Amino acid sequence: MGRRRRGTTAEPPPECRGCGGCCEAFGHTLAAEEGDLARWRREERWDLLAHVGEGGALWVDPVTGGDLDRCPFLERTGPGAARCAIHATKPDMCRDYPDSAHGFHCERGVRFRDRG
Ligand code: SF4
Ligand code: SF4
Repeated sequence: MGRRRRGTTAEPPPECRGCGGCCEAFGHTLAAEEGDLARWRREERWDLLAHVGEGGALWVDPVTGGDLDRCPFLERTGPGAARCAIHATKPDMCRDYPDSAHGFHCERGVRFRDRG
């Protein structure tokens, strides 16, 4: 399977079981890349840009500017199940996870075969 083009994937990769474990563990320690900021401006996602802090830090409270302790876009859909409310335009860091820094294994220990 070829590498997905950023920003066009409609569904998570088949290896992902949709548990939300990675989002809970890392979702409040992300950073927006230039590509994310440009895409969100192009898509007029001012709601997302309002959650970007200094240096691209994700995620901050749009009112107070303070760091959030969880990703505000993670929606629990049931026991052990979750969805990303902004999947179509989620940050590149989320889209690329798990990468080589994680040995292509996610928080739940699943190996993502098409990434390495
Ligand atoms: S921890 Fe793994 S299986 Fe669970 S949502 Fe994240 S990538 Fe998917
Ligand atoms: S933006 Fe979506 S994929 Fe990224 S941490 Fe939040 S819920 Fe998870």
